[in-house]
Amino acid sequence: MRGAARLTGAPVLRAVDVIGAKRDGAEIDAAELAWLVTGFLDGSVTEGQMGAFLMAGVLRGFSRAEARALTDVLVASGEQLDLSSLTGPTVDKHSTGGVSDATTLLVAPLLATAGAKLVKLSGRGLGHTGGTLDKLESIPGFRTGLDPEEMLRIAEEVGCVVAAQTQRLVPADKALYALRDVTGTVASAALIASSVMSKKLAAGAGTIVLDVKTGGGAFMKEAAAAEELAELCVAIGREAGRRCAAIVSAMDQPLGRAVGNALEVAEAVELLSAAPQGRLAEVVLELATLALVEARAGGEQAAVAGGGERDAAAAGGGRAAAAAGELRRAWTSGAALETLARMIVAQGGDGSVCERPRDVLPTAPVIRDVLAEEAGSVAAVPALPVGELAAVLGAGRSRQADEIDPAVGIELRVEVGDLVEAGAVLAVVHARDESVAQHACERLGQLVALGGDGIAPATVLRRMGGG
Ligand code: URA
Repeated sequence: MRGAARLTGAPVLRAVDVIGAKRDGAEIDAAELAWLVTGFLDGSVTEGQMGAFLMAGVLRGFSRAEARALTDVLVASGEQLDLSSLTGPTVDKHSTGGVSDATTLLVAPLLATAGAKLVKLSGRGLGHTGGTLDKLESIPGFRTGLDPEEMLRIAEEVGCVVAAQTQRLVPADKALYALRDVTGTVASAALIASSVMSKKLAAGAGTIVLDVKTGGGAFMKEAAAAEELAELCVAIGREAGRRCAAIVSAMDQPLGRAVGNALEVAEAVELLSAAPQGRLAEVVLELATLALVEARAGGEQAAVAGGGERDAAAAGGGRAAAAAGELRRAWTSGAALETLARMIVAQGGDGSVCERPRDVLPTAPVIRDVLAEEAGSVAAVPALPVGELAAVLGAGRSRQADEIDPAVGIELRVEVGDLVEAGAVLAVVHARDESVAQHACERLGQLVALGGDGIAPATVLRRMGGG
């Protein structure tokens, strides 16, 4: 520890001293962090003490070294996946969470079609953000509870697999996150970065790409905070010896057009059935391109060695263009959709969802249109309240234990910058019954604001890495 209130470095510590040091602005060293977190897990450091330490850190700030050390402590608290038996570069992706974000359902089969191996451990949705597991489980028969052997077998055979985060990976993060959730200590770039990156590092991939969201529907409301988080995650990944890249993308409005589990699967399948278009496709191609370039960069760097910086930059740009072209071909040829169908079948699901999504997926009994009362340009479709409204319909949870309804949700027909006529359909509500449908229609009529300038905002705001 360095700074205002150095501890003596004695092997036997007292939690109160570590808390006091952090309160006074000191940097806590790796051994002390390990001692504190281990004590929290075995009960010798109380929840109150851990909560006080976290709050001191949120208010005083954690250094990059502390974030890196905490990541190591979290990774070491559990098992790690060993992907070394897989042939081809191993890739993982992570999104910090948003509304209508089905990127995994598209990035995974695209990368697998391009020859990478993607083993993705995902979580469930909470609050206004959706969860990949909930989306996939809306496909009849789809199983997400796989053991490591089955994950590796499917990854080798198909190229991609998406499964539930096991309890054995990073147990300390689960315990710490639960405490942060109830002590107002989630909002810290260092704590979020160590939590996210510990799970990614333990999942074993050689290349990690991150989509850090910013805006009203994201953890990080301000772009500068999202950039700081993305930079910290990339630095932690690289310092741990992984190839790592990130984008910062806008989450002011939902990324795709569907908000709700089966509706998002249908949207992903329909998107993969045609040429890529729209903001969801843009983010998917950005992430997949970054991942492919990073995953292949080792070998190609050797090929340009000695060519100087300009050649290396040109080679980087060339690699990105080649990867983007390859991914577009995988998309438009239908090969990526076939890979998605094979992954779904390998995980017990009904693969015909990739041919007839709307017939195979569950549907809601009540479907109602929301119409524009006047003509105008769409000024806002705010992600947070739209996500919360989908949760009210039954698509999301307010507590982990809540049941969700896979069929319900919202399909948006417009996005910011669109011009609409009076009477045009702004959105379609899929509900369990008439009364909740009527409430959702009225609320959406208020939320989709007209009066904009007709300009569509940028979606991908920044790239870090990838050539
Ligand atoms: N997601 C995580 O996995 N951890 C955090 O701390 C915040 C978001």
